[in-house]
Amino acid sequence: MSKVQTATTVAELRAIISGWRREGARVAITPTMGALHEGHLSLVEVAKKHADRVVVSIFVNPTQFGHGEDFERYPRTLEQDLALLATVSADLAWTPDVAAMYPAGFDTTIKVGGPAKAGLDDAHRPGHFDGVATVVTKLLLQTGADVAVFGEKDYQQLQVIRQLARDLNIPAEIIGAPTRREADGLALSSRNRYLSAEERAKAPEIHRTLQDVAARMRAGASAAEATAAGVARLEQAGFVVDYLLARHALTLAPVSGVAEGPVRLLVAARLGATRLIDNTGV
Ligand code: AMP
Repeated sequence: MSKVQTATTVAELRAIISGWRREGARVAITPTMGALHEGHLSLVEVAKKHADRVVVSIFVNPTQFGHGEDFERYPRTLEQDLALLATVSADLAWTPDVAAMYPAGFDTTIKVGGPAKAGLDDAHRPGHFDGVATVVTKLLLQTGADVAVFGEKDYQQLQVIRQLARDLNIPAEIIGAPTRREADGLALSSRNRYLSAEERAKAPEIHRTLQDVAARMRAGASAAEATAAGVARLEQAGFVVDYLLARHALTLAPVSGVAEGPVRLLVAARLGATRLIDNTGV
């Protein structure tokens, strides 16, 4: 089984990328937390279209997990991940440990406003986007990537990263890639493996509900009316809904209907101990 080459220190990472730069290569990064699936691999495919060399970071970032969240039990499948990355011809896996990413004395946090403060996940995971923004800023600066590819699956995160790259003049082009789904509509996620068989059978209801809410809004329903129907449908199916909201697709500001610009529906809902997120355009 062939595996992609790895770098585990910033010095090693920089030496490899400098070699590529001397050859005139354009470099992309695809940040991940590992436990890779087809969704992650599709980001690598997108990255390859925009660059000559693709780095995939695999780092379960402790600073983006809140107290009582699943940092400890988050799936870690490094050997399998490295083999999967070879199948899509990624060029390098950047696999720092926590001490390499946050050496003793590390004491800087990137706090993004705008989309990071739009409620949604921020209201349920305080500090989460500070952790995301800080680690993504580090990844972009460690690699000096020309291009960085993120999934629309984590839609608020994508907008937060666009904001930080713009605000900090980080020259990487930020590209959003579409969500890959199972045949029944469930968005692929490393956390899907937490679902019991019964929960897995219910999980696609999230995607179906979003499609229904979008159809209601396109047919003229207000955001409040359509999302309330969606929440009721998910609760009926056994979900605990953190939020299901219609937002402006770029700013994530609240909207009352489709007349106000491009609308994105965003949902977070729990099935047992597993929290699932998804989103769709209207
Ligand atoms: P994660 O490993 O969950 O932090 O995700 C790493 C990257 O993969 C993020 O940019 C995610 O948005 C993206 N991603 C996760 N799931 C999917 C999916 N089903 N389709 C496309 N991209 C995804």
